[in-house]
Amino acid sequence: MIVIKNEDQIARMAVACEVAGNLLKELRSFIRPGLTTKDIDHKVEEYIRKHDQIPAFKGYGGFPGSACVSVNEEIIHGIPSPKKKLREGDLVKVDLGSIYKGYYSDCARTYPVGKVTEENARLMKVAEESFFEGLKFARKGNRIGDIGHAIQSYVEAAGFSVIRDYVGHGIGSDMHEDPPVPNYGKPGHGPKLVPGMCLAIEPMIAAGKYQVKVLDNEWTVVTTDGSNTAHYENTVVITDGEPRILTCFDRDIVAQNA
Ligand code: MG
Repeated sequence: MIVIKNEDQIARMAVACEVAGNLLKELRSFIRPGLTTKDIDHKVEEYIRKHDQIPAFKGYGGFPGSACVSVNEEIIHGIPSPKKKLREGDLVKVDLGSIYKGYYSDCARTYPVGKVTEENARLMKVAEESFFEGLKFARKGNRIGDIGHAIQSYVEAAGFSVIRDYVGHGIGSDMHEDPPVPNYGKPGHGPKLVPGMCLAIEPMIAAGKYQVKVLDNEWTVVTTDGSNTAHYENTVVITDGEPRILTCFDRDIVAQNA
């Protein structure tokens, strides 16, 4: 069932999303070689609690961290670890969310650790840009498949692939609501977009093939071929006009690190 949000509900989400979005921005200057993925998790939890919100990921489905921190071939659900150190050239994906008065935020970015290869920089950039390609279709009267089709077309034209097994989602008083928002699809297919729909649109892309597997820790998802991955996610509201992005305060992330 797709829950359409009223103004009050969207206002609560916007408060959660402002904290999460600003945190993503702050992580840009925080992430560096030598940090562990647990250091990032600590920072995320501390920041969210300092702003009187609840880390949405902590304990969600039993997840141990406040953020999913995934490195290189890990695409999502990386478990923060004091043993996992970031090295120069890594691509680290941080996916996080918070809860304010019962409403969720959910967003993710891919960060370069120090200087990354040209190929990795391009992978990050294409993930981010594909989100904005999809966003062009996040308008009243369009369908979910229009968003996925735009993302897929853009990513594949760049020579990369779109992860199939994990998708975006509706969001509101639960982190994962209907409808699923695949990063692939056919134009004109899927649920119709109406004002008040809140969606986490989140392209997950791989430099190689799109097949993935889950590691023995039962969380971390990696590409089967070991190729590097990038992830870019915002919480978005469908309106009568332009879509409203609630978690984005850092459009220049790629430019800054290029
Ligand atoms: Mg999400």
